[in-house]
Amino acid sequence: MTATNAPLISIRGLTKAYGTFTVLHGIDLDIAEGEVVCVIGPSGSGKSTLIRCINHLEAFAPESRITVDGITVEPGPSLAKVRAEVGMVFQSFNLFPHMTVLKNVMLAPMRVRGTPEKEAERKARELLARVGIAEQAEKFPGQLSGGQQQRVAIARALAMEPRVLLFDEPTSALDPEMVGEVLDVMRKLAGSGVTMIVVTHEMGFARQVADRVIFMDGGRLVESGPPEDIFDSPKHERTRGFLRAVL
Ligand code: ADP
Ligand code: MG
Repeated sequence: MTATNAPLISIRGLTKAYGTFTVLHGIDLDIAEGEVVCVIGPSGSGKSTLIRCINHLEAFAPESRITVDGITVEPGPSLAKVRAEVGMVFQSFNLFPHMTVLKNVMLAPMRVRGTPEKEAERKARELLARVGIAEQAEKFPGQLSGGQQQRVAIARALAMEPRVLLFDEPTSALDPEMVGEVLDVMRKLAGSGVTMIVVTHEMGFARQVADRVIFMDGGRLVESGPPEDIFDSPKHERTRGFLRAVL
């Protein structure tokens, strides 16, 4: 239905307010299929809110328009379809603590897609191998390190075969020695053509892996471009100031 060169995600005039406080001021953004976009910016700049609007975890102003694979993101019957196409990985892994790793990954395909148990298990084991923790399948989340738990969360998101994966600071809650293993998995996904939007403070990862880096400040998309442009010759003073502080 959608033209081949249509963006996978289209965001137009995205505005979001909490009461009288405007968090997002009319964001326009297109994400192409297969693109890896890293979103950087100071705390409170609206990065999480932006990506949470994409699957309507946050409501937004009615004049705003977001489409995912041609489907308008709005409350109603089409929202389940959007959410099945948009996988999310959070800072806090949000695994089900009373279920094994394997069951965590099997659950959504069985419940939402009606995948038969045997098929869901086969797929889950394959995904756990893909994120490098096949041998942890029968354990419970609490028995795993933070890095391993986050890799389970990535496998769980992939199990729904989403068109796009959204990451909200996936390594921010990890002990430093575990950041690398999660970034390695994400780098591999990016290399295999998965469309990804990654909110991150890992500037090395953004520089190395992103097709495009977006700098946000004060609820606005201040600057966006290839990583070498943003990191080596940022145009805006606010981008320069932010990079000076974090690099
Ligand atoms: P970031 O992810 O860039 O740190 P957020 O998207 O979490 O920023 O937040 C953007 C702004 O919105 C911040 O000023 C934050 O305080 C505010 N905000 C976020 N959630 C709420 C909420 N539920 N109620 C009121 N203000 C909120
Ligand atoms: Mg955030």
